[in-house]
Amino acid sequence: MKAVFIIENVRKSIGGVQMKYDFLERLGIKKVNSGACFGEWIEKPEGNILQSINPATEEVIAEVRMAGSQDYEQVIEAAERAAVILRRMPAPKRGDIVRDLCNEFRRHKDDLGRLITMEVGKIYEEGKGEVQEIIDFSDVAIGHARMMGGRVTPSERPGHFTFESYDPLGLAEEITAFNFPQAVWGWNTLNATVCGDPVIWKPSLQAPLSAIAVQHICNRVMKKYSIEGVFNLLIGEDMIIGDRLVKDSRIPLVSFTGSTAVGLRVGSLVTARGGECILELGGNNALIILADANIDLAIKGLAFGFTGTAKQRCTSTSRAYPEEDIAGIVTDRVVDWCKSLTIGDPLHPQTQMGPLISEKARANVLRSVQKAKEQGGEVVYEGKPLDRKGFFLEPTVIYTKKHLSIMEKETFGPILYIQPIHDLEEGIALNNKVDQGLSSSLFTNNLLSAFHFLSAEGSDCGIRNVNCGTSGAEIGGAFGGNKHTGWGREAGGDAWKKYCRHSQCTINWSGELPLSQGIDFFKNKK
Ligand code: NAD
Repeated sequence: MKAVFIIENVRKSIGGVQMKYDFLERLGIKKVNSGACFGEWIEKPEGNILQSINPATEEVIAEVRMAGSQDYEQVIEAAERAAVILRRMPAPKRGDIVRDLCNEFRRHKDDLGRLITMEVGKIYEEGKGEVQEIIDFSDVAIGHARMMGGRVTPSERPGHFTFESYDPLGLAEEITAFNFPQAVWGWNTLNATVCGDPVIWKPSLQAPLSAIAVQHICNRVMKKYSIEGVFNLLIGEDMIIGDRLVKDSRIPLVSFTGSTAVGLRVGSLVTARGGECILELGGNNALIILADANIDLAIKGLAFGFTGTAKQRCTSTSRAYPEEDIAGIVTDRVVDWCKSLTIGDPLHPQTQMGPLISEKARANVLRSVQKAKEQGGEVVYEGKPLDRKGFFLEPTVIYTKKHLSIMEKETFGPILYIQPIHDLEEGIALNNKVDQGLSSSLFTNNLLSAFHFLSAEGSDCGIRNVNCGTSGAEIGGAFGGNKHTGWGREAGGDAWKKYCRHSQCTINWSGELPLSQGIDFFKNKK
């Protein structure tokens, strides 16, 4: 394992307050920030102070004054007023708002990427990639704004015209995870905006500054339109602001991205009040390697899958299933990768893996390693915490000839299980054995095996790849998982439809009242 430990330290004074990085100023971040906004920042929200911690240095980057009950009401009322305005605005005009946002994201891509890196610890290359995801998805959403019509269906009744209509739903609420502190907002919000729904965003308390920087961009864009309440922010405690948002029947749609445990609870509360849900929950993704595969490609897929983003992606690779004949080579090459991995300052261009989000996250990974050992797993590369500030942890590789129950759980940090398989059938069975169903990969050069894996009898996941890894996805395709991953789709494909009220409409110009299915209700009264 190579280490890089350069952490930048550029001090600057803003209004007499010491700020460590001048790019924060360009993003509108102050030493103490408001966590409540409806286009205008609420100057002194009622909630407690939240600190944003840099996981690479354990230093406080800046503070946020969180939202309280009165701030909550002010924000929801502004969003309700904005809903009336957006509903009247033609969809292509709503697309113009997204285009303006997109231009701002292009302009601030590097600074936003840097902030993401500093706040959640992913390497700068991936931080910028996250902002690029918003830029790319803007293109998709702007396209929808001109194409989101319903179908015209042939009517069975003479003189009738029938069509489907997609209209704004009302308010959309987004509760987002720490590991994609801006992109998940982007998927949901850009769809919601073109569909005509104001958004109320409750970001992760582990990444509040990333959300505040995005909100500043939204505010600037919406000044041009003179509309408040389209993009709203509520940073607040989970059991105060989060719980209230989930139970608020003024909000018809809740899009939740986070762990399965929290998401399933949120889902049941929302459906109990008649609301709609999009749930994007935890993954536990497997990569199968057949003996005929290009091993170099498979190792690259695994390497990014379990050490990229410090294995803190919902699509990260947790389980590798190589065929028996190649299991030894695969294990050796994975261990070689761990030894060559560059861990350190996530802003440094050579770094491949930054820190985990918190001490709690690091302890959780170490606990999983311990459990795997107790269950009979053989540790072939044991990751240790780095002896320095920051929540750094080397990756761990565990080899096992049999399935371990710990492999059924998502561990959000760098641990990979390798289990040899007899054949593709066994690989598919093990891939499908867990409750989660997000991403899956097969490496093979055999066309029949590839189609088998992609068939209804193959992988049961929402994402099924051949010869590319589990981690990451293109923004145009329907992204999301099945089973306990929540069945949600927040981007690509037909995801936009979830943000709409869907109606079937009929106009009768026949001068008669024929009933559908040919029912002759009036036969005795003609
Ligand atoms: P988390 O479940 O701890 O938190 C997610 C969000 O829920 C945060 O904003 C948190 O503040 C909020 N929250 C927590 N308790 C709440 C409550 N009672 N009411 C309302 N809101 C509440 O998840 P995390 O640690 O931030 O993120 C990691 C998890 O997210 C992993 O399981 C990962 O797989 C998953 N994830 C899934 C996807 C996907 O697309 N499927 C994408 C990113 C992350």
